Amino acid sequence: TGSSKKETKAVRRITFDDVAGQEAAKREVGELVDFLKDPERYSRLGAEAPRGVLLMGPPGTGKTLLARALAGEAGVAFYHTSASEFIEMFVGVGASRVRKMFDEAKERAPSIIFIDELDAVGRVRGTGLGGGNDEREQTLNQILSEMDGFSGHEAVIVLAATNRPDVLDPALLRPGRFDRHVTLELPDRKAREAILKVHTRKIPLAEDVDLSLLAASTPGFSGADLKNLVNEAAMAAARADENAIRMGHFDEMRDKVMMGSVRSLAIRP
Ligand code: ATP
Repeated sequence: TGSSKKETKAVRRITFDDVAGQEAAKREVGELVDFLKDPERYSRLGAEAPRGVLLMGPPGTGKTLLARALAGEAGVAFYHTSASEFIEMFVGVGASRVRKMFDEAKERAPSIIFIDELDAVGRVRGTGLGGGNDEREQTLNQILSEMDGFSGHEAVIVLAATNRPDVLDPALLRPGRFDRHVTLELPDRKAREAILKVHTRKIPLAEDVDLSLLAASTPGFSGADLKNLVNEAAMAAARADENAIRMGHFDEMRDKVMMGSVRSLAIRP
C-alpha cells in the first residue's frame, strides 16, 4: 500500500455526499470550499488565506475521505502523502520530498496538501527513544518552514490527520500552521446506518436486509469497518453464488469481524 499512498495523485471526484455522518466536521471543512473555488475574491479584500487544518479522530473515521471530498467539492488538485513513510527514508530525503510537494502544490494552486499520520513526524522534538530521529526532525522542520514560507495569499490549504493529537509538537499548532482543528468521532447508530447506505448504494440487497438493525448491532464500528463489512458480505454472497446480499450474510460477517477483533486484541503483547 505504501508506494501508491506516497505518490501525489489526482483522484476520482469524491464529494461530501460520500462522507456519511460527521456533520460538524463537514460543515467546518466545507467553509473552505468557497475560498478554494475563488481565492482571488478573498485576496482582493486583503483576507489572509486559511492555511493548516488538523483532522483528529480514531482510525477509519473518514479523515482521508473528508480531505479528498474537500478537493472534489472545490475541484482542485490534491497532494497526498503519509508522514510515516518519511522516517524510513535516508536522511535528507524526507525534507526534500516535502519541499517538492509544497512547490508542486503552489504551482498548481488552488490546491490541497494532505499529510496522513502527522504524528509519525510531528511528535515533540528531542524526545525520541534513543535520542531523536534525525530524519524525522528534519522532515518536521521542513514542514514547519514550508508552512511559514507562504506569502499569505497562496491558495494552498494543508490538511493533516492524526489519531494522536496529544503527542504533537506544539510548534505545529501555532497560528499560521495547523491552527484549525476538526474532530471526527466514531459514528453513532444513526451515522452507522448512513455509512451503510453510502456503501450499499450500488450493491444489490435482498428484501430482508435491514440496515437500521445492522447499524444497531455494530457498536464501535468505524466507517472503515462498516465499509469492510459490506465488502465481506458481498464476497460471502458471491461465494454462495447468490445475486443479492441477504441479512444472513451481514450477520455472519459482522460476527466474524467482531470475533476477529477480539482475537487480535487478545494476542497483542
Ligand atoms: P486512518 O486514520 O486509519 O488513516 P481515516 O480516518 O483517514 O483512517 P479513511 O481512510 O478516510 O479513514 O476511511 C477509510 C474508508 O472507510 C473510506 O475510504 C471510506 O470508504 C470508509 N469511511 C470511513 N468513514 C466514512 C464515512 N463517514 N462515510 C462513508 N465512508 C466512510
